[in-house]
Amino acid sequence: MRPTTELSGVGPALAVHLERIGVTQVADLLFHLPLRYEDRTQVRPVGGLQHGEKAVFEGEILTAAVVYRGRRMLIASLADGTGQITLRFFNFTRFQQKALVRGVRLRCFGEVRRGRGGLEIAHPEYRVVSEDTGDETEDHLTPVYPTTEGLQQGRLRRLIGLALDELEQAESPELLPAALTGGMEFPSLRQALLFVHRPPPGTDTGELQQCRHPAQQRLAFEELLAHHLSLRQLRDSVRVEQALPLQVGGKLQRRFIGALPFSLTSAQKRSLGEIGDDLSRADPMMRLLQGDVGSGKTVVAAGAALCAADAGLQTAIMAPTELLAEQHLATFRAWFEPLGIEVVWLSGRLRAAERRAALDAIAGGAAVVIGTHALFQEGVAFDRLALVVIDEQHRFGVHQRLALREKGALGDHVPHQLVMTATPIPRTLAQTAYADLDVSVIDEKPPGRQPVETVALPDSRRADIVQRVARALRDGRQAYWVCPLIEESDVLEAQAAEDTASLLAEALPDFRVALVHGRVKPDRRDRVMQAFKSGEVDLLVATTVIEVGVDVPNASLMIIENAERMGLAQLHQLRGRVGRGTDSSSCVLLYKPPLNRTARQRLGVLRETDDGFRVAEKDLELRGAGELLGTRQTGLIEMKVADLVRDAHLIPGVQRAAQQLQQEDSAVVPRLIRRWIGEAGALYGKV
Ligand code: ADP
Ligand code: MG
Repeated sequence: MRPTTELSGVGPALAVHLERIGVTQVADLLFHLPLRYEDRTQVRPVGGLQHGEKAVFEGEILTAAVVYRGRRMLIASLADGTGQITLRFFNFTRFQQKALVRGVRLRCFGEVRRGRGGLEIAHPEYRVVSEDTGDETEDHLTPVYPTTEGLQQGRLRRLIGLALDELEQAESPELLPAALTGGMEFPSLRQALLFVHRPPPGTDTGELQQCRHPAQQRLAFEELLAHHLSLRQLRDSVRVEQALPLQVGGKLQRRFIGALPFSLTSAQKRSLGEIGDDLSRADPMMRLLQGDVGSGKTVVAAGAALCAADAGLQTAIMAPTELLAEQHLATFRAWFEPLGIEVVWLSGRLRAAERRAALDAIAGGAAVVIGTHALFQEGVAFDRLALVVIDEQHRFGVHQRLALREKGALGDHVPHQLVMTATPIPRTLAQTAYADLDVSVIDEKPPGRQPVETVALPDSRRADIVQRVARALRDGRQAYWVCPLIEESDVLEAQAAEDTASLLAEALPDFRVALVHGRVKPDRRDRVMQAFKSGEVDLLVATTVIEVGVDVPNASLMIIENAERMGLAQLHQLRGRVGRGTDSSSCVLLYKPPLNRTARQRLGVLRETDDGFRVAEKDLELRGAGELLGTRQTGLIEMKVADLVRDAHLIPGVQRAAQQLQQEDSAVVPRLIRRWIGEAGALYGKV
């Protein structure tokens, strides 16, 4: 390890700047990878330059003058025998003005545009050359690096150049044993690094830009491997702890499944089987149960809870909002009380006496405890907690999830953990993004569900839509009207929702219209939701607060306003509120024209499919993985070369390699993590 300050020209001030981009060691410079490239390897004939391209060209100044066109500017015309181009400078020194005169030869670099008067370029980089300067051009494509204020591109490029010069001499930086990368037709790490920092002239820049070159794939592979290992390490740190092994298929569980008014889908059975296998071990379960909205995750969680109940142990079920927690409370009470199982409610809103009673019941060993994150606050002491179920995982980060595990620790044992999410992440992605979790997928809906018919209409059709709502309500159905999201201000958002609600109430005088939005107090919001659930409200006007998990099977129509402003995943989640019964349902996406291209594509995807996995895949295509997962949501930090979606084909190899490394070369693991994730890698393990 050599700190950057050992490089010539790097003092303490520069070292601070470098640290800001994650570079503290000379070797880190090698892994600071270009964002893009510029081609300065050849001097191009001016006549062949295209609009929008960045290029080097050379020619002689024909005319140069300072003119006034709304503002003062220096304009020069440059020709090389194949064509002519106008150079424009809005800021220029007197020195420049003197130097740029007729007959002077310039070599320029910059982005060429086609203006009204032909080719032109604003503020090119340039230098004066003479006819006999010869053809000294760059001998490789010029990398452009991500940098930070105060650290100039040229300076960074020079430092990385120094590190690369050393790399050519030094011993191989390879960490991966040859046996691991053998069959993969990858270049060596040294070759790959030299290539990506200094691609030879003529390299296909399209391939480079898309990171599909074998050298980049080699690096992406190693980066994915580092991330994967880091999450596995986290998981292993949990695995060294012990959990209480639970019996599967006990009396309560069998009675529960026998008494359900429906039979489990095969996907539910399979998931419950996988969970049962985990629970029967002394290793703590860490499993993600993934299933589209309405796929029936709750009953699977209930089945798991009964494994604990059958053993006389406790389950805690946590939901991200009061509303969802209450919904679970109602469901579990209906299911479990006939079996004689005590279900306790703990929310932050309980009165002191109620809270006292709940805490006593929890300490006394009540089988099932349901609540919000209040479950894990100070003063909550479980008697024999064996299983923690966390619903709608995407609301909680990796770190929070782990913190909960700690809180739930019981003597020498930690509880098993089941997290549930409706965010449908394609399987390969889930295996990397949640490498610390095993994944079960419910990829099948309960039978009899009709697909939600989805249409997109311009908001000029509003009056027709209101009539459509009226018809549905007259038929005894219920409907949602979702008001636009106003990110800048929840006050404005609430205001808009209130206006909409009163307009709709006026237009639909025979029906009961109610409103919920983010500024409605939680108590009141829950009362309105309950009224909607029990059918006392016909039309629920809401902002996107209803996004997650609400289950009202009689609601079969949803109108979403300003759908063009929402993301695909969010629209799909919203739409999942309808189509939960056996009647056919529909969803109307109202938009404000004109639609831009991505908005049109997004709405098109929703019209075509209501399969959450297809929607997620399309979403990824349209947005890129980082956005869908979010750094905080997955604990994945932004990657340098790899992209979970683009490089998904590498993942099976990454998984194999991770296993092999951990078994045969475990000393390499921390070095790989340090190299690619740096100090942030420690974050994974810290919690
Ligand atoms: P989610 O996966 O979105 O949490 P829920 O667990 O709320 O879905 O289930 C949605 C609805 O489907 C509930 O009303 C539930 O009772 C019902 N359900 C679950 N499994 C089945 C099944 N196998 N057959 C019929 N209905 C089911
Ligand atoms: Mg749910």
